[in-house]
Order: sequence, then structure tokens, then C-alpha cells
Amino acid sequence: MLSVCRFLNNAPCAYSMTYDEGFVDILANALPIHKKYGIPGHADVVVSQLGQRRNCYRSSMNGLFHMGAEHLRYLITEGWSVGNHSWSHFLYPTQPGLDLYREVVYSRYYLEDKLGVPVTFFAIPNDQCNYEPALPFIRQAGYLGCQQVYGGVNRDDVDLLKILNFMVAEGPIRAATFHWPLSLTTENITLQEIQDGWLCETTHLVMPNVIQPHKNITPEGLERRFVKLLEITDKRLWAATPEDVIDYIILRRRTVIQPVSPNEYDVNVDLPVGIQKRQLSFVLDDREQAVKQIMVGDALVDFRREKEKVIFTPHDIAPGNLTPTKLRVKWL
Ligand SMILES: [Zn+2]
Repeated sequence: MLSVCRFLNNAPCAYSMTYDEGFVDILANALPIHKKYGIPGHADVVVSQLGQRRNCYRSSMNGLFHMGAEHLRYLITEGWSVGNHSWSHFLYPTQPGLDLYREVVYSRYYLEDKLGVPVTFFAIPNDQCNYEPALPFIRQAGYLGCQQVYGGVNRDDVDLLKILNFMVAEGPIRAATFHWPLSLTTENITLQEIQDGWLCETTHLVMPNVIQPHKNITPEGLERRFVKLLEITDKRLWAATPEDVIDYIILRRRTVIQPVSPNEYDVNVDLPVGIQKRQLSFVLDDREQAVKQIMVGDALVDFRREKEKVIFTPHDIAPGNLTPTKLRVKWL
């Protein structure tokens, strides 16, 4: 029996860390910790504020400095990704002159132009009241993923245009207001809480002597979180950008596997527009430990054993960009 692993390399859970606003402190205070633990980061930026001192409608963080496009392009070379956190950090419905097309759609094209890469992720700014009005524009712009404000662990049935969030912070978070489960704090989190799920969480500033400790964190606090996550998953969590996790989930949902013979299967993947990481891992039952070789198309692939199963990840699920793509998987 051949099937697609829930997550890459059959990891027990997926993990993404996102930074709303994209403040410059990320470069000095967050990036080195991400590098130390091999965890990629992700910045959600307010597009009209790139490289500027913050001046957003009713923002408690006005006066702080945002990264510019050159900083973001550098983070991308470090394995990070960048999402859109709207044009102006809008607040529906009270903001005068609010133009949701500019906030959600135009800002995507503008950001892609500045970065030279596709922007497929949108993070709702401010509060959940922004979600419903923004949703038609999120669909129009063709985002593959949208992170809401409320939170928890994303399960198998996650709506990728309504991804659950969690706030990582130094002090007590506003858990009741934003529906963030306290079982996910660094103090409380266990493998059981995140097993088979995707934790896609957020903070803002990373700095010593942290301000607004309900939504920002110290470098020590960030490091404690990474250490705890690696410890409870025995270093097996899949730490990835949200875009990589979203691409994986979309591909998994659009894969159909059909047996051809007892040791030969056809894998059909309907590859939608916008997917950047064309990777899927497969799991094959092998109780007798009889599998000696696995071929995907004409190529031998490396595999590893996990109890009575064999796990493997073909180099590219859609060679030649064909869609729908068809792969013949066979083993000896
Ligand atoms: Zn924000």
C-alpha cells in the first residue's frame, strides 16, 4: 500500500514562525537564532511602509522601523519567505478611505515587483473583523494561503485561506480575546498538542528589554521556544516556511494514487498555478522488509525505514512541468 505522508519526510508535525510587520530588529535579533536551530523564518510586511518608520492607522507600534526590500531579499537568500500583511495595516470598517483592493490585491503585485519572487501568503492585520471583508479580495488575488488572527493548531481539514495562528510572546498573551489556547505556550506545549498538526505562529519584535510583552519576545524567549519544540518532537518536526507547508498540503490533497500491479502504482498530481515547492513524501507498507529498490519513473530514489514502513521523497513531483503530472512508482 502506497500513500502520501501527511508532512514532508513523515514528520510528526509541521512548524512555521512568522513575524508580523517586518521590523528591522529581525535581522539582528531573530535571524541568528533561526540559523542556529535550522528553522526558516517568515516576515509579513506592511507594503506601504517598506524601509520606513511606521505610520499606520491607530497602530500601537508607530515609530518603529520596517525592513526595506533589500533586507527582505537578503532574508529570502537565507531561506526565509515574505508574505503580505496588507498595504496599510487596515482596520475595517473604521478606517477613512479604505480601499480593500489596494490593501489585498494591488499590494501583492507591488510587493512581488519589489522582491522579484511570488507572494502567495496573506496575513490578516489587526483583528479578526478584517477577515470576512478581505476574503473576496484574497480569492481574487489568488493567494494560496491566508493566516487569520485567531488561533490554535491547524489540523488535516485546515482551510488554507483561514489558517489558525498563535501568538508567541514574552509575557501573558491576550488568549481569551484572540482564542489562543494556553496549551501552546512554551511552558505548556507537548508533542500531543501538535502531533499530526501544523503550528503556524506569530510574533512581532524580538528584542532585549522587550516592549509590549503580550505580543513581542526577547531573543532568550525565542530560543527557549525553539529548544522546547525540538525537544518535544525529538528534533523530528518539519520546520518550514508557511509557503512550503501550504504547497505540500495542496499537492497532497490533489494527488490520486492507483495500483497498477502489487509493486507498481501510478501517482497523479494535479499541479495548480502558484506552487513553488513541488515536493511530496511517500510511505510504503513493508512489513517483511522486502523492499530493496524504489524507482520513480526511470530514477532510483533514496529511502529510509521507519518501523514497518519505507519513506521516500522524489526529487521533483512534476518533472517537465506537466500538469496533471503522472509518475510511475515501482519497487523491487
Ligand atoms: Zn500586524
